[in-house]
Amino acid sequence: MAAAKATLMDKIVSLCKRKGFVFQASEIYGGIGNTYDYGPLGVELKRKVKEAWWNSMVTTRADVVGLDSAIIQNPKVWETSGHVGGFSDPMVDCKTCKGRFRADHIDELSCPEKPSKKPGECHGELTEARSFNLMFKTNVGALEGASSVAYLRPETAQGIFLNFKNVLESSRIKPPFGIAQIGKSFRNEITPGNFVFRTREFEQGEMEFFVPPAENDKWYEYWKNERFDWYVRHGINPEKLRMRDHAEDELAHYSTGCADVEYEYPFGWGELEGIACRTDFDLSRHAEASGSDLRYFDPESKERYFPYVIEPAGGIDRMALTFMVDAYEEQQLEKDIRVVLHFHPLIAPTTVAVFPLVKKEGMPEKAREIEEQLRLARFSTFYDEKAAIGRRYRRQDEVGTPFCVTVDGDTLSENVVTVRHRDSMEQDKVKSDELVAYLHQAVQEWKR
Ligand code: ATP
Repeated sequence: MAAAKATLMDKIVSLCKRKGFVFQASEIYGGIGNTYDYGPLGVELKRKVKEAWWNSMVTTRADVVGLDSAIIQNPKVWETSGHVGGFSDPMVDCKTCKGRFRADHIDELSCPEKPSKKPGECHGELTEARSFNLMFKTNVGALEGASSVAYLRPETAQGIFLNFKNVLESSRIKPPFGIAQIGKSFRNEITPGNFVFRTREFEQGEMEFFVPPAENDKWYEYWKNERFDWYVRHGINPEKLRMRDHAEDELAHYSTGCADVEYEYPFGWGELEGIACRTDFDLSRHAEASGSDLRYFDPESKERYFPYVIEPAGGIDRMALTFMVDAYEEQQLEKDIRVVLHFHPLIAPTTVAVFPLVKKEGMPEKAREIEEQLRLARFSTFYDEKAAIGRRYRRQDEVGTPFCVTVDGDTLSENVVTVRHRDSMEQDKVKSDELVAYLHQAVQEWKR
């Protein structure tokens, strides 16, 4: 089982490179650990994931607003949040192979020299666990010295707390309400990371939802359900998802509850997103350290209080990987095997590919016209006229394009195109002037 599972991950990594989803960063110089670049299809996939997240978390809600805060903040922010002093992982070293591993993940890791064994089982001796700070340090300005030290943010959340008052005063919004942000975060991760599951720079989608303390439990349940459902609504197999409530001894001292949405990856169950009750810890700490009053004044009750916070925090790259892994299928057909990515149409990098059946009789011109019409209707499109039609369908299956439109003789004589569906491989005849409406409906009605 383990070998078969490992192969699936290898296949995904290879497909990502071959089709232009993900490349190793600095590849021509031998790469740099845990760092990847996204190619033309990967960047579209991530953009779709972010759009779907933002749509559900901000655009379609009256009670959440957006923010884009700086990556480099005043270093006092990270002293106050506890990251400079305490954002660390326990690490052990192998005295034989010199590998360094996260002490709390030893069971899931393998020895770099003997991959069938766990670290330390290869007759190597592991050191005592030592704590390793994950913060990336840098210097701002021309002078290097203690006074110029700054940090790259390890999470986007703190930028939200820093702007709590600004948003409150500028947005006419009151608890319960949320502030959401998507952006890069940086952690000096030591453990090798299962492709883009764990990288040193990554994007996060985080939302801090500020509530009257008495409503904490109600909103915690609400966001746990909403975030779990979001993955299912966007096509993830619910049987591969689970909600894991943290045990009492896993909780931060200020937290009243925390749960992870976990996915069963080829390498085992892993955290996809966390939903945490952060109470008033962050706002009250920043208020105390900065001297700024970060309480909310309720004009009705005349009460001044620190709202409690529920935080859904997910990794965009981890989501993109999850959508890939979950969508991947090798389908045994009569004559051969079809590789297909069953992305939800809202997540697929390309929504519609347009083909002329043959490269003559005016079909390419007509197909280009239809492709442009779909592009202007805001579909992500792709035009392809190379190779036999069957091969072109397969190429789109492999990158997860849910719909292909083929221009043939009927298009020229009767203005009718063929729409081929990726999952069922069924084909429909559709009038060209009804194509946009047809595709919009097909996107809405798509089911896993
Ligand atoms: P882990 O236990 O996997 O290190 P975490 O509990 O430290 O994660 P959080 O601080 O809760 O993670 O971050 C929220 C989300 O950000 C995670 O659920 C994950 O999706 C994403 N994330 C965290 N670290 C990384 C990383 N190094 N690479 C990619 N995504 C990450």
